[in-house]
Amino acid sequence: MIQLKNVTFHYPRRKPVFADLSLELEGNHIYGLLGKNGEGKTTLMKLMSGLLFAQEGSIETSGEKAYLRKPKMLEEIYFLPEEMYVPSITIEKFETVYAPFYPRFSAEQFHKYMEMFEIVDFQQNMKKMSHGQKKKVLIAFALATNCGIIFMDEPSNGLDIPSKSIFRKVMTSAADEHRQIIISTHQVRDLHSLIDTILILDQGEILLNASVDQITEKLRFGVVETEEEAQDALYKEDTLRGIYTVSENTAHEESKMDIELLFNAALGNRTKIKEIFSL
Ligand code: ADP
Repeated sequence: MIQLKNVTFHYPRRKPVFADLSLELEGNHIYGLLGKNGEGKTTLMKLMSGLLFAQEGSIETSGEKAYLRKPKMLEEIYFLPEEMYVPSITIEKFETVYAPFYPRFSAEQFHKYMEMFEIVDFQQNMKKMSHGQKKKVLIAFALATNCGIIFMDEPSNGLDIPSKSIFRKVMTSAADEHRQIIISTHQVRDLHSLIDTILILDQGEILLNASVDQITEKLRFGVVETEEEAQDALYKEDTLRGIYTVSENTAHEESKMDIELLFNAALGNRTKIKEIFSL
């Protein structure tokens, strides 16, 4: 559980990234934290994990004040940053040194995820690996910690296309009911089919915090052929296959969420989206 109450945060001599932000993440979901570049996704995750301190308000993560970074909280959270620091040691040594910080670390899982990522040589020096390869090791490690809360900042950045697809498979096989995973991205497509709850960060506030089920209950994603049929849509996008639309789901029809259309629809209709989801 993560709880932010009336949080105000600014970097030194900068205007606030967040002013009076309140947010509660409870339940074991895979959250997709979406937002344009520079909206504050990294900052928010750093605040939640106690790496940055809010000037006002309170942040509790896993039952502890985040900024205190008490061992009890630290063994429950794993933060995978976008810019990773790795020491100049082998993968095998990395596992030996860092696994003991996490009481529920599973060597078996770590090896399974590494195998899925096709990294078999545990004697290679991590520092000498490519950015994408390092990322794979840390994603595998993060999931194997079995921490209750895992933050992943732009995890698919730097992965090539086949690796992105393996990443989704690894995440799916690791998703269980015992943890929260918060994944930030501005490449919304990469998260498709992975996440069950969407958080959209926009202009310093949470524009949307809803499960995929809640979203498809309130919004309908469709494809129509004529402009006329699309005229009531909140958002429409012309493609070769027709006009993709996002509309209010007044007739309670079933449809499949498209994360990119949702994101564009939300940013293009801020007031309406808040009204529909009564934020
Ligand atoms: P995102 O992760 O959504 O791209 P960030 O959290 O990195 O956004 O950044 C939010 C805002 O804070 C941006 O305007 C960025 O320029 C600014 N910012 C980020 N890090 C720093 C820093 N260390 N010092 C000053 N400003 C920063």
